[in-house]
Amino acid sequence: MSEIEKSKVNIVKAPDGIEGPGFFVTTMDKAVGLGRKNSLWPLPFATSCCGIEFMATAATTYDLGRFGAERLSFSPRQADLLMVMGTISKKMAPVLRQVYQQMAEPRWVLAMGACASSGGIFDTYSVLQGIDRVIPVDVYIPGCPPRPEQVIDGILEIQKLALNETTRRRNQPEYKALMEKYGME
Ligand code: SF4
Repeated sequence: MSEIEKSKVNIVKAPDGIEGPGFFVTTMDKAVGLGRKNSLWPLPFATSCCGIEFMATAATTYDLGRFGAERLSFSPRQADLLMVMGTISKKMAPVLRQVYQQMAEPRWVLAMGACASSGGIFDTYSVLQGIDRVIPVDVYIPGCPPRPEQVIDGILEIQKLALNETTRRRNQPEYKALMEKYGME
């Protein structure tokens, strides 16, 4: 048993490829996907109680660092995962949209909790009935609030997208059509 195996450190598995003595070949997409998957930089857009649940997820017991996503970014320009947690008022919607647009590609969006996903219990004149009214969402986490295990499950789903997404996806007609639908370039 090697020293690494004895230490219980998990080493990320190499992507599929062709292996031989002294060499390993894979595709650019797979190598980039592996890096993106294991180094997500979340931007926590937290407006209410779900944000507190997220803090518990990031802290020691659940430890987002185990998934390579502990480096939170409060600048949209240095984040690739927008995590929206909490009630979003209609007044806040343009701000959320601007934050999304300031993020560089590739970018993913996670709607955490009932409020971000659908307005939750706040079916009122002032609350946005789901952030997908203003920005595209990749993964929804149900619950009010969701437990940290659910948040981790959502992040694992985002990791799957990051791993398998081609580096050219953003140039594909489907993605362009999605952006057009939201009135973005
Ligand atoms: S979904 Fe529930 S816990 Fe989360 S922000 Fe809304 S009211 Fe609070």
